[in-house]
Amino acid sequence: MAEVSEKDVLAALGTIIDPDRGGDIVSLGMVSGLAIKGGHVVFAIDVDPERGPHLEPLRKAAEAAVHALPGVLTVSAVLTAERAAGGDHGHDHGHDHGHGHGHGHDHGHSHGHGPAAEAPLLPDVKAIIAVASGKGGVGKSTTAVNLALALKAMGLSVGMFDADIFGPSQPRMLGVSGAQPTSPDGDSINPIEAYGMKVMSIGFLVPEDSPVIWRGPMVMGALEQMMRQVRWGALDVLVVDMPPGTGDTQLTMTQRVPLTGAVIVSTPQDIALLDARKGLNMFRQVNVPVMGIIENMSYYTCPNCGHEAHIFGHGGAKFEAVKLSTDFLGEVPLDIDIRTTSDEGQPIVVSKPESPHAKAYKDIAAKVWDKVQLLQQSRKGPKIVME
Ligand code: ADP
Repeated sequence: MAEVSEKDVLAALGTIIDPDRGGDIVSLGMVSGLAIKGGHVVFAIDVDPERGPHLEPLRKAAEAAVHALPGVLTVSAVLTAERAAGGDHGHDHGHDHGHGHGHGHDHGHSHGHGPAAEAPLLPDVKAIIAVASGKGGVGKSTTAVNLALALKAMGLSVGMFDADIFGPSQPRMLGVSGAQPTSPDGDSINPIEAYGMKVMSIGFLVPEDSPVIWRGPMVMGALEQMMRQVRWGALDVLVVDMPPGTGDTQLTMTQRVPLTGAVIVSTPQDIALLDARKGLNMFRQVNVPVMGIIENMSYYTCPNCGHEAHIFGHGGAKFEAVKLSTDFLGEVPLDIDIRTTSDEGQPIVVSKPESPHAKAYKDIAAKVWDKVQLLQQSRKGPKIVME
C-alpha cells in the first residue's frame, strides 16, 4: 500500500475544528512536528496550557480523522502547550502543559507519581530501569542493550524501550532496523521481538533520516503515549534507554515514568564524570533511586597482545561513586568486539555470551537485579524476618 502523504494527513486535519477558536487546526497553525513512517503518524497539536484538559475530544477527533486515511496503521496526536504556564500539572492525558522549551524552570511540582496521576503507566511491568548518561556518546545505548540482554539471560521477561529520541539506536543494535510494528486495532502497538525481548523504539515510528525537531513537551507526550500504546504485556523488567543529558526532556521523563531506579553510564574522563554527577542529581531531585554508576570504556585491551591500557585514567567512576554516595556497578573496557557486535545487531551478550565482556555485563545485571529486589522490598515496607 502506498505510504500516506503529509498532504493527505494535513487535509484530514484541516477538517478538525477548534471549538473555542472557530477555525480548523491546520489553518490556525496548531499542527506541528508531523512525522510519517510506514503507516505510523505522529504529530502535535499546540494549545494554550489552560485549555489542555478540555481538548481531549479534539485530540481524539484529530487522531480519528487521520486514522480513517488509507494506509494509516497507528496515529499518535499529542497536545502540547507552547507557553510554559508553571502551575498545575496534575491532570495528565498524555499532553504536557509546562516545560515548554524554557530553561531553568522550577521543577519542584508534579513528580508523576502523585495521587493526581491517572491510570498507572505500565501496571503489568514489575520494574522499570532507566539507563541514563550525563551526555551523549558515552556508550549508554550499548550498555542498555547488553544489560537488558543479560537480564534476559537470567531468565527474566524483559522489554527494551528506546526513549533516545535524539538518536534511537536500539533498532540497529538489536538487528531490527527495518521492522514495522503492527497494530491489532489501530490504537495499540505490538512491540517488535528481538532475542526474546519486546522492543519499542521511537526509531520505528519516525524516519531516521529526518532530524526530530520536536520540542521537549512534544517529545515527552509522544514517549509517554507510546509507552501506553505498546502492548508490553506482563514483564519482569523494562529497560529504558534514556535520551542523553540532563535537560528538561530527561527530567520530565523521569517524572512521568514510574521508574524503579536508574543506572548512570559514564566514561572515566573527569569531564564525563562531572556530567555523570548532573545525571545523578537529576534523579535525586525527583526521588528516583540511583542504583549506581557503570564505567564504560574503562580501559583498553590490545586485541593483539592483551595489554590493558588505561587511556582515560581508570577507576574514576569507582572513586566518584563513593564520593557521591552511590554504588559502583562495574566496568566495561573499550573493546572492538563490543562495538562491532552491536553495530552488526548482535550485541556481545548474545553473540559471545561466554566472553569476558559479556560476563562483565552479566555481573552488572546481577547487581542491578539485586538492587531492584531491595528497592521493591523497601517500597512494600519493612518485613519482619524470623529464623
Ligand atoms: P550513547 O548511547 O551514549 O550515545 P552508544 O552506546 O551509541 O553511546 O555508543 C557510541 C559508540 O561507541 C557506538 O559506536 C558504540 O558501538 C561504541 N561503544 C560503546 N561502548 C563501547 C565499548 N565499551 N567498547 C567499544 N565501543 C563502544
